[in-house]
Amino acid sequence: MSRKILIAGGGIGGLAAAMACSQAGWPVQLLERAGAFTEVGAGIQMGPNVVRVLYGWGLGQELSRVAAFPAVLRVRDAASGAELGRLRLGERARALYGAPYATIHRADLHQVLLKALRPRTDVQLLLDQWVENLVQEPDAVRVQTLGGLELQGDALVGADGLWSHVRQLVLGDAPPRVTGHLAYRAMVPQRDVPERLRSQDVTVWLGPGLHVVQYPVRRGEWLNVVGIVEGRINGNEEEWDHATHAEDLRAAMAHTCAPLKDLVGAIDLWRLWALCDRAPMRGAHEQVRGRVALLGDAAHPMRPYMAQGAGMAIEDAACLQQVLAGPERPLEQRLQLYAQQRWQRNARVQARSIRNGEIFHASGLVRWGRDLSMRLLGERLLDVPWLYRGPTA
Ligand SMILES: Cc1cc2nc3c(=O)[nH]c(=O)nc-3n(C[C@H](O)[C@H](O)[C@H](O)COP(=O)(O)OP(=O)(O)OC[C@H]3O[C@@H](n4cnc5c(N)ncnc54)[C@H](O)[C@@H]3O)c2cc1C
Repeated sequence: MSRKILIAGGGIGGLAAAMACSQAGWPVQLLERAGAFTEVGAGIQMGPNVVRVLYGWGLGQELSRVAAFPAVLRVRDAASGAELGRLRLGERARALYGAPYATIHRADLHQVLLKALRPRTDVQLLLDQWVENLVQEPDAVRVQTLGGLELQGDALVGADGLWSHVRQLVLGDAPPRVTGHLAYRAMVPQRDVPERLRSQDVTVWLGPGLHVVQYPVRRGEWLNVVGIVEGRINGNEEEWDHATHAEDLRAAMAHTCAPLKDLVGAIDLWRLWALCDRAPMRGAHEQVRGRVALLGDAAHPMRPYMAQGAGMAIEDAACLQQVLAGPERPLEQRLQLYAQQRWQRNARVQARSIRNGEIFHASGLVRWGRDLSMRLLGERLLDVPWLYRGPTA
């Protein structure tokens, strides 16, 4: 059998995995259940640790055509509007971490990856292929799709997201947890909001039981806004993209300052997500079983409070590239190396994401302590060198 990696899922994680395998010299067949490659209309932030991987894949130029590169991250009190702390990004991030901090529309990042993959003759992208079953054999893995397609490869990468079916087939553990946090997401052209509300910074507004994050995307021409509140939705959490009315979010913002209320009030169309996650990974066995490797949300879905879910998927992919390009050894051993190198870092980011949520939403004494520490320590508290330096730090 000629060597080949199968990938289930064509989200950011799956496309990054395809790029990584191909760059390591392993042909790829990627199976995406949807009939077209699409991404939801929302932004993501990418730390220098993530941008550096994309630069390594030669995507720097494409990235600079579509992303924004904010100079500052500001933390503000949602009630008073006062600045609590700030972290310089821009040149400081480049100097310290070798790459900038970027903010980007998910669809743009997805397109950058797709555009880079399409000309690669060793990458086959197959749509309308729901991975339904897999069989691990001593020297191969066989995959069946709902449409009856049967494929064989040296390994399968399960990059099929939060509700991963591949994970169920190999780990069979409980479904993801409903966190009790809701995310309202919106994107709006900067020119459509009053000038005083336009911004090229990342701003995080903190209030008891809520926070709001805003940042530029599409070269700074659009503003991405995410409002997180505590609550549940009536409906299926798996259908995580619910059209929603702004009234609910506006009501939750009743006690916030005028600029924040104005920002939320200036946007009409929001999408609502019920945020789900899993407990931080407990071992390498949650990342790899035999010839099946999990990657991205399939392996370590996390709350978005470190803004690193897609980032860790891209780092997973970069690690996969390293082990596939490394010295000749049996495939299972390569995947074990991947699992060993990834699971603790992923677990750490998952745990910090949960903790950040508690800190962001704090009230009373904890809030007072948080605000004081931010004033006293400023950048030292907001910077995350162990994360931004990348996995080798
Ligand atoms: C509110 C919010 C804000 C966020 N902000 C950030 C941020 O700032 N920075 C950041 O890095 N991350 C952020 N994230 C996290 C990030 O969105 C996810 O971690 C990331 O998209 C996961 O990518 P993935 O490819 O693993 O999964 P997905 O994007 O879910 O992709 C999975 C793909 O697999 C396909 N699929 C599913 N099942 C099958 C099957 N059986 N067979 C074939 N295909 C299948 C799906 O159709 C889909 O295309 C945020 C998330 C949320 C909810």
